Amino acid sequence: MTATRISGTAHAESLRAEIGLGVANLKASHGVTPGLAVVLVGEDPASQVYVRNKMKQTEAIGMRSIHHLLPAETSAAELLAVIDQLNTDPMIHGILVQLPLPAHLDPTVVIETIDPAKDVDGFHTHNVGLLWTEGAGFVPCTPLGCLHLLHSVRRDLAGLHAVVVGRSNIVGRPMAALLLNASCTVTIAHSKTQGLPDLCRSADILVAAVGRPQMIQGDWIKPGAIVLDVGINRIQAPNGTTRLVGDVDFEAALAIAGAITPVPGGPGPMTIACLLANTLEAAKRSVSK
Ligand code: NDP
Repeated sequence: MTATRISGTAHAESLRAEIGLGVANLKASHGVTPGLAVVLVGEDPASQVYVRNKMKQTEAIGMRSIHHLLPAETSAAELLAVIDQLNTDPMIHGILVQLPLPAHLDPTVVIETIDPAKDVDGFHTHNVGLLWTEGAGFVPCTPLGCLHLLHSVRRDLAGLHAVVVGRSNIVGRPMAALLLNASCTVTIAHSKTQGLPDLCRSADILVAAVGRPQMIQGDWIKPGAIVLDVGINRIQAPNGTTRLVGDVDFEAALAIAGAITPVPGGPGPMTIACLLANTLEAAKRSVSK
């Protein structure tokens, strides 16, 4: 048996088309253009690429996109002042502060300064609390994208055993909350978990969010399981060329899993699409207040 490949690229494209319609409807009905502000502190090259991509896609879908590129030596007070100004700007519905921040800036303080109603990354404790109590807050974009991909192959997840490997605030924990809200029985694994291969073998849904290239072997996977590979790792071949791989040994898993996401082209493209979905939602909520 060969697993179904779940294309994040294709699903992200159809989600963007749907969001584009929502943006046009909101403009027509309320004269409101959803606006996303991205704040980047410092010159980290990977972050610069992410920010450029986010801005390009935001504009392509008909939203307003603004960015603040601040020098690495920006003080906490200066950064918080920028966020305060965005919090009160009626043209801005979503605020994203690109992580990681330079070491002298505490990301928790920065995230807690964002108005929860504009926290389209879903990292503010208000939104984290809503997620764990099944409230209608904003859900972090990568796990939200994973849930879309999961539903594309299976609508009803109730009763399935989901194992989430990784417990970060960005991926692992919110993914576990979403799966619990979908009535899965959820196990969260991390670096101190014992017997990880056997635990993975018991998973109907396996989410890998570790950041270790191809750590999850083919024979760790239950036959027919749905595997979501969030990991993005760059590895080097002996000839010096590099390529991206996930946390799962994709070729081995393909022969055993029921469905699996590739890397690249899996949860990655869904992340920005879900950021746009959250921004549209924030704009809609702002007009219905
Ligand atoms: P973190 O480094 O914050 O978390 C990694 C998690 O993996 C930790 O909880 C850690 O456990 C756990 N872990 C590490 N080693 C092991 C091990 N040997 N066995 C079991 N668990 C282990 O990473 P993120 O959650 O931010 O990201 C994970 C991956 O997803 C990365 O490759 C990242 O690039 C990718 N990513 C992709 C995104 C996208 O598709 N758009 C977005 C965000 C991330 P412990 O807590 O005990 O240290």
